Amino acid sequence: MSDFDFSLQFSSNRVIFGSGTRRLVGQQAERLGMSNALVVSTAEQQDMAADVAEHLGTVRAALCPRAVMHTPKDITDLAMADLARASANGIISVGGGSAIGLGKAVALRTGLPHLAVPTTYAGSEMTPILGETKNGIKTTQRAPSILPAATVYDVELTLGLPTTLSVTSGMNAMAHAVEALYAQDGNPIISLMAQEAISNLMGALPLIHRYPQSIDGRCLALQGAWLAGSCLGSVSMSIHHKLCHVLGGSFDLPHAETHTVMLPYVTGFVSDAVPQAMKRIQRAANLGDRSPAKAIQDLARGCGAPTNLAQIGMNADQLDRAAELATLNPYWSPKPFDRETIRHLLQNAFEGTTP
Ligand code: NAD
Repeated sequence: MSDFDFSLQFSSNRVIFGSGTRRLVGQQAERLGMSNALVVSTAEQQDMAADVAEHLGTVRAALCPRAVMHTPKDITDLAMADLARASANGIISVGGGSAIGLGKAVALRTGLPHLAVPTTYAGSEMTPILGETKNGIKTTQRAPSILPAATVYDVELTLGLPTTLSVTSGMNAMAHAVEALYAQDGNPIISLMAQEAISNLMGALPLIHRYPQSIDGRCLALQGAWLAGSCLGSVSMSIHHKLCHVLGGSFDLPHAETHTVMLPYVTGFVSDAVPQAMKRIQRAANLGDRSPAKAIQDLARGCGAPTNLAQIGMNADQLDRAAELATLNPYWSPKPFDRETIRHLLQNAFEGTTP
């Protein structure tokens, strides 16, 4: 297979993007055949979910504010009972990856249509991927039916996303785009989308850091998140996502922050193996000859985000085990690695050395 070969299938979900578009959610729900929707969110976002539910027109709504991180199966059981009690015939998820994960899990179990209204930059709404946990063990599955049937992006719903979370969530999106640029199954369209996502996010995050209510910054970031989520949903992720799954899954590190800390180190590690991808990042972010790894870390630091693993709760005595777990069933990587290499990379990320 040459570097130019690829296969590609576009997904069939509908995307609506704009400001105030939550007013269109009822119309879209009806289009999907819903007359009675279970509106899932986290407890923190119950009011936002209620606001969206007010715009459902003739579609009735039952709120289900049960979503938490990593989609535990016992929470999905409770949401299934809510769905049955409400006789709902569709699911609307309002929130970040946690709410959308619960929406996906209920939709997968029931075959009912799922409409996502994302309010972070994590990108789950654009992927056919569902990660669920049971007894602390996370399993991930991928199936076309997991992809929400429609997504309504309303920039206004992101204005209140706290600044630090906005930055780390944006870095989470950036990680999808960066890894798409050197994906084993990449293609020219996804590379263009990834490049545009990086450009949007590099521009948006400093703007949001300074002016959290900037509509321009929020629009750029949410479009970047849509593009990056589409990359995540279309091509395989690599060493960076594997490391973050290990650190989040086995050491309980926070999802978006872990991506933020690790991305510069993994980018630095793979850089000499994927020069074309590095050139694309340099072009997307107007970096000239500057190191993409360093630029990504400078962006995070400049926006007040964490830049080392110690800051987000990792202990030095966990690094050996993390390196071991990361090299068990490793993902494909553009640059071969062994336990020692990963241990070294984790040490640097722990100390926050220049990537
Ligand atoms: P999250 O959904 O857990 O949200 C973090 C917190 O921010 C929550 O308390 C939430 O209520 C709050 N919040 C969200 N949007 C807000 C807003 N606009 N204003 C105020 N508060 C808001 O965090 P996340 O990073 O979006 O998602 C993380 C989860 O998603 C993880 O479980 C991760 O594994 C999963 N994920 C899955 C995929 C996939 O493709 N399957 C992709 C990315 C992330």
